Amino acid sequence: MNKIRQFDIESYRILAELSNAIMFEWDITKDFFYVSTNWTSTFCAKPQKENFSQNFSKIFSLSPHLPDELTPYFEYIKQNKGQHIPKNYYHKIENQLLTKNQTYIWFQLRLLLRCNATGVPDRLFGMITDINLQKKENEKLLYQAQTDVLTGLYNKATVQLMITDYLKQSSLQDKHQALFIIDIDGFKEVNDHFGHHFGDAVITDLAHCIKNLFRHSDIVGRIGGDEFIVLFKNIANKDVITKKAQELVKLLQRKYTSGNLSYEVSASIGIVLSPLYGTDFDDLFQKADHALYHVKEFGKNNFYFYRSDLQNPRYISSRRLESSIPNNKQNQKAFHENVIEYIFKILYRSKDSDTAINLILEIIGRKYNLGRIFILEKNSNREYCNTFEWCEKKNVSLQNTQENIPDSIALKLLGQFDENGLFNCCDINLLLPEIKKYFTHVPVMALLGCTMLNAGVIAGIIGFESHLKPRVWNEDEIETLSFTSEILSTFLLGKRALDKIKLSHIQTLEILDHIDSFIYIVDKNTHEILFLNKKSVDFFGTNQLGNSCYDFISCENAPCSYCPMLLLTESIEQTQEDVYFPKRDLWVHSAVSKIHWDGTREVCLLHCHDITKFKKAK
Ligand code: GH3
Ligand code: MG
Repeated sequence: MNKIRQFDIESYRILAELSNAIMFEWDITKDFFYVSTNWTSTFCAKPQKENFSQNFSKIFSLSPHLPDELTPYFEYIKQNKGQHIPKNYYHKIENQLLTKNQTYIWFQLRLLLRCNATGVPDRLFGMITDINLQKKENEKLLYQAQTDVLTGLYNKATVQLMITDYLKQSSLQDKHQALFIIDIDGFKEVNDHFGHHFGDAVITDLAHCIKNLFRHSDIVGRIGGDEFIVLFKNIANKDVITKKAQELVKLLQRKYTSGNLSYEVSASIGIVLSPLYGTDFDDLFQKADHALYHVKEFGKNNFYFYRSDLQNPRYISSRRLESSIPNNKQNQKAFHENVIEYIFKILYRSKDSDTAINLILEIIGRKYNLGRIFILEKNSNREYCNTFEWCEKKNVSLQNTQENIPDSIALKLLGQFDENGLFNCCDINLLLPEIKKYFTHVPVMALLGCTMLNAGVIAGIIGFESHLKPRVWNEDEIETLSFTSEILSTFLLGKRALDKIKLSHIQTLEILDHIDSFIYIVDKNTHEILFLNKKSVDFFGTNQLGNSCYDFISCENAPCSYCPMLLLTESIEQTQEDVYFPKRDLWVHSAVSKIHWDGTREVCLLHCHDITKFKKAK
C-alpha cells in the first residue's frame, strides 16, 4: 500500500486547522477546486469552484521574480489526468503569492496527491502556510553573515563566492568584465593623525563613495582594512571601464578635517579584464593585485590595467604581504575559514536554532554544489530520524516521505565509516546492494557521510549528497564538510541535551503539582519563598516567589515561633512533626529537610500534608 493511502486525510485537515494553514483540495476528476473558509482572510474572494485546471494561474498569483515550480506541477497533473503518474506524491514548494493587500508574501505550499483504488490520482490536497517571518529572519541572518559590519558592503568570502558564480556563466564571453582592486594610499596616517575611530568613519565614507559610483548589479565588497574589490559587469567596450576608473580615482581624492587638522587621501586601483585574462577568480585577483602593485610603485593615486608583459613588482608594502593571496592552497584555506566563520556567526546570532541549521545547510549545499544534505538523529526508539534536510531541488526531499531507519539497518551503513567517523563514497554504484537500496529514491551519485558523536557514541549521521554524477571529494571539501558536521553535531547535541533537561524539568514540576501535599522551598535565613507547588499556590493564594513565608503562608507579621524549619539544626538534616498554623486553622504533618539551591546556598524543603480533618476528629 502506498504511503498516501495510509495517510489519514482527516488528520491532515485537523493539522491544517491547528496550524492556521489554508487548505485546498482539487478534485481532479470533476476539476473542482475547494478552499477552506480562511482563504479570504489572506487572499481575494473565494475562487471559482469549476474548471480549476483552466484557472490555476489566476487563483495562485505567484511572484514574477521567482522561479515558478507550481504551474508545471499543476500542468503535469492536468496533462496526465486519468493515468498512473510516477510523480512524487508529496511535494513542497516555497514561493511568494499575491495577497489581498496586493503585496507578495512568502508561503509554503505542501501538496499531497491521493490516488483512487486503481492507482490513478484523483485528488490533490494542499496546505498553504505563511512563512514570511521565517524567510525574513533567514534573509536577515544571511545578510549579517555576508556583510562587513563596518561598511555594510559584502565581506571577502561573499564577494569571492558571488564573483566566482558570476564568472561561471558562459553567456559572458562577448562582453568585458573588469575586476578592480582598490587600496587607499597612506591610510595608516589617517589613523595616526586622527585616531582609529575617525579612520573607521573614513573607511565607511570611502566605501559609500565606491558603492554609489557603480550600478546596483555590480559586485562591491571590502576585502581588508583599506582594501575594496569591485566586479564591473557586462561592459561593451574598454573605454567605459577606463572612464569609470578615472572617475573613481578622482572621487577617492578626498580631504578629511577634524578640528584644525586635515588630511588628503587618494586611492590606487589595479584592474584586470575578463575573459581576456581569465575567468577564474583566484587568477584574476592575482592579476588585478599585480596591476595594483604597479600603481603603488609608480606614485599611487592612479589606476593601471593588467597586461601580460607587466614586470613583476619590486615594491611590496608590509600590509600587502599580510593580505595578499600568494597561492591557491592558502586561498582555499582562507575560504574554508570564512565558511566556518559564517557558520559560527549564524549559530550565535540566531534566535531560533532550527532556522540557523536550515540556513547553514543551504549555504553549504549551494557553495559545494550539492543535491541534498540530511541530518539523521537517533531517537529514543533507537531509530534514525531525518530531522533536518536541505535539497537543491524540492522533488528530491525525503524528509516527509521516508520512514525512520531502524538501528539495525543504520549499523550496516555505519559499517562503511572509517575510524574518523567519515564515509567517503565517490560513486554510489560501488556500494553493497543492501546499502545502495537506501539511496535509490533520489538521484544520489556520491555521498560524504559524517557521524555525530555524543561522548564517543554514535548519535546521528550528517550526509552530503552529490546528485546526477559521481564525484571525487577533494581535500578542501572533506575538510570543510567534516568540520561543518562537527560544529553542527556539537550544537545539535547541546540543544538536544538542553531540550531533555527542560523536558525533565517540566515533568518534575508536573509530578510535584500532582502531589496532594503542600511542597515549598524557603531560605531559612531570609524566609524568602523559592518554590511553591500547585497545591500550595491554590491553598495559600500566592504564587509570588520571593515573598516571606510567615507573611504569605502563615499569615503572621514576623517569623513564626512554630516554624517547622526551627526543627533543623546544625546536626539535624531532616525531620518531621505535626504543626498547627493558627491563622489558617491548619494542621499539617510536616517533613522538613535541608537541600542545596542554585549550587550556592542551603535552603529548606517543606513537605506538609494536611491532617486538619484527623486532628479535629480526635
Ligand atoms: P599604502 O599607501 O601602501 O596602501 O599604505 P597604507 O598606509 O594605506 O597602509 P596599508 O594599505 O598597507 O594598510 C592599511 C592600514 O589600514 C593598516 C591599518 O593601520 C589600517 N586599518 C586596517 N583595518 C582598519 C580598520 O578597520 N579601521 C581603521 N581605522 N584602520 C584600519
Ligand atoms: Mg593602503
